[in-house]
Amino acid sequence: DMDMPVDHIRLHEAGELDPARWGARGARLATLARLGVPVPRGMLLSTALVTRITDIGADRVFAGQIAGRIAALGDDVLLSLRSSPPKPEWGGPEALLNIGVTDARLPAITQRVGRKGALELYFRLIEGYGTMVEGLDPEDFENLVADQMKVWSVGSEGELPAEARAALADEAKALYADETGHPFPQEPADQLCAAVDAMARNWNSVSARLLRQSHGAEEDAGLALIMQRMALGVGQGACGAGVVHMVDERSGLPSVTGRWLPQAQGYDALMGLRTPHLITTDARKAARQTAPSLEEQAPEALAELREHYTTVANGLGDAHGFEFTVEEGQLWVLDAILSPRSARATVRIATDLARSGAISREEALLRVEPRTLIEHLHPQIDPAAPRDVFGAGLPASPGAATGRIVFTPENAVQVQAQGDAAILVRVETSPEDIRGMHSASAVLTVRGGMTSHAAVIARGLGLPCVVGASDLRLDLRAKAIVTQDGRTFTEGALITVDGTRGEVVAGAPAMIPPELDGAFETLMSWADQVRTMGVRANADTPQDARTARSFAVDGIGLCRTEHMFFHEDRITVMRKMILADTTEARQAALAQLLPMQRDDFVELFGIMRGLPVTIRLLDPPLHEFLPHSREEMMELAEEMDLSVREVTERSNGLSEFNPMLGKRGVRLGVTMPEIYEMQARAIFEAAAIVNTQNLEQVVPEIMIPLVSANREVEVVKARVDDIAGQVMAEREVSLTYRLGIMVETPRAALRAGDLAKSCAFFSFGTNDLTQMTYGLSRDDAGRFMRDYVNQGVFAEDPFHSLDIEGVGELLLLAARRGRRTQKELMLGLCGEHGGDPGSIHFCKLAGFDYVSCSPFRAPIARLAAAQASL
Ligand code: PEP
Ligand code: MG
Repeated sequence: DMDMPVDHIRLHEAGELDPARWGARGARLATLARLGVPVPRGMLLSTALVTRITDIGADRVFAGQIAGRIAALGDDVLLSLRSSPPKPEWGGPEALLNIGVTDARLPAITQRVGRKGALELYFRLIEGYGTMVEGLDPEDFENLVADQMKVWSVGSEGELPAEARAALADEAKALYADETGHPFPQEPADQLCAAVDAMARNWNSVSARLLRQSHGAEEDAGLALIMQRMALGVGQGACGAGVVHMVDERSGLPSVTGRWLPQAQGYDALMGLRTPHLITTDARKAARQTAPSLEEQAPEALAELREHYTTVANGLGDAHGFEFTVEEGQLWVLDAILSPRSARATVRIATDLARSGAISREEALLRVEPRTLIEHLHPQIDPAAPRDVFGAGLPASPGAATGRIVFTPENAVQVQAQGDAAILVRVETSPEDIRGMHSASAVLTVRGGMTSHAAVIARGLGLPCVVGASDLRLDLRAKAIVTQDGRTFTEGALITVDGTRGEVVAGAPAMIPPELDGAFETLMSWADQVRTMGVRANADTPQDARTARSFAVDGIGLCRTEHMFFHEDRITVMRKMILADTTEARQAALAQLLPMQRDDFVELFGIMRGLPVTIRLLDPPLHEFLPHSREEMMELAEEMDLSVREVTERSNGLSEFNPMLGKRGVRLGVTMPEIYEMQARAIFEAAAIVNTQNLEQVVPEIMIPLVSANREVEVVKARVDDIAGQVMAEREVSLTYRLGIMVETPRAALRAGDLAKSCAFFSFGTNDLTQMTYGLSRDDAGRFMRDYVNQGVFAEDPFHSLDIEGVGELLLLAARRGRRTQKELMLGLCGEHGGDPGSIHFCKLAGFDYVSCSPFRAPIARLAAAQASL
């Protein structure tokens, strides 16, 4: 061996190898051999050696050593030559099998596998060699086979008799000689050298270079080669080839699946025309297959494969199946292949591997893409099902649901009451639609972006939702959705909203139900042990809070109190309060709202059992609460003892040109102090009630929205402190609470150092902060966001995935300035980005204490936060 070039190594003596030098397959086979898996013996040629072969030819590199070595193996030993690129996706020439069959060696090979088998191997070699080395057309060879099948009137190649195979071998030799002008080489060493040269040449062809460079290969990426003894799947006794996997692709649970082809040559044959058989007897029976299974033909081989599965899973740290050959009952493994798996199976496999010690828990956590957990949480359209997509928009809330089209929230309630599923279709939604959304199975809007009303509410409810489906038109008079090419879907028609992909599909495609299995729970518990950043939920109602608790959040990071005012029994009181023209009238209405709010908070605190609850004081512009239809105006006029005209006038008086930048948030709090005072009182009274009932003491966190100046905080803080003092005195209790602000205007971020003086915490409202940093309306972005992302203007929708470079810089700056003033300042994020893994990673790096997201995204956030800690 010493005089052979140094850049080669025996497979069974190699141990751990570097894939960059020996190729991925070469390194893997060496590991399999080390693990005791029966890999046929062989030799690896390094990338450096193959490069030398490219330069001066295999003949000169091997310097006459090959012939003697092949001879020493014996006349009945055949070789395979396979390529081994450093990365599988870099391509590489196809394998050449059966190297070494010659006229002179045919008798010895016949001894080993019988005459028919030997002749078949010869034919396959001439075909493969002719194709690879001489560039002949494989079809010409296949035509020879087809002709013989006609002559012998057989339906499959396997039924051809030995005479036919003899004729085929002769015909192949003749074809080869005719086409190339020289006879088929009769020296095994010549066959091998020519094949090695051909592979090296192929690797350097322009098309091969372009292909691999498109997959990230460097200019000078090399190819390694594997020469191996052939395990022959043809011959006497149990012979054949197959591929097997030991875990189910869908579930990840143990299950033996695969294909087995008796009397066949390697995996390559399985890809061909013959129908392979199933592996186990059970599967064979289930498929009503009459041909024998591997389990029936070579039970020991199957038992051995099961054992190797465990060894290899431990050794390679992942679930692998096998390509294998059985020769006279003896198993040979040709390669291990990563078992394919669904998102759900990925979790099962990773946790099983960690449980068995094959990988660490940390590794298991890193193996699961957080986003893919949505498959555990929501029904999905079966990826295999045909889908008739008639509309597309933004994937605002994941999962899929089928139902009947309705165009109004009232209809959604009706359809649901009849026991049917409703798909609420709107131009866009507003707070009035909430009840309808509760009754709907999915929501589709023509307008809106990722943080539009519909998107935010649907995510909170766990409803599939597509927004900004701007290629659809709503003909509300005809009660129909109209597509650009004129298809119409009328009220009551069955459609499916796929909020995972952002598609609207006609009819009811097959679905996969969600499943929170043990593996999911295990992974989540590991994530919680690892993560150091909190995950809270955005939860407005007791129902949200219960959902949030079921997903094991660390608290509520955002309770949007305005959502409490849209209930039927409250909206009228709310409207009275808003339209009141005197402080007394306003206070009377507020006095009616107070007990309602207090009850809400009592319930919320009760559900959260001492976990932190951040309550945001009223935020939206008041006109959002006002009636829109004439009927509603009339109703309200009657309630308030006013004329319809007066109600209309007062409502109109509240309208603004640009309400999102108008009198909302803290601006309401400063100019109409009674509202925040009522809310503060409701919060403190609720805390007092709960604290006397429960052991767990509530420490309410009160949050002021849309702050931009320090004085705003001082004004509100003084009043809130005052109310706290009053409630404590009235109820003779002591209460602790924290007051903080939402940082959601650029000015608040810039002035964070100053603002932190009066705050216990900052919660970044990245929805508004993104809107204001870009100058991009969150409710209108849906109209062009898809175009922007498709054209690469934005890498991603900044309302979905935090814009690290821009908005992120404001976050960092505010965090730094805030903490410089106040070391203990608690930092959180409660925009929709709190459920986005990339954004969560950023928050961890920025030193945030928690992120807050809609309850259904909490598992994703918990896993992403864990990964960010690793
Ligand atoms: C935000 O602006 O990020 C936020 C959480 O508040 P809202 O979405 O209610 O404006
Ligand atoms: Mg906001």
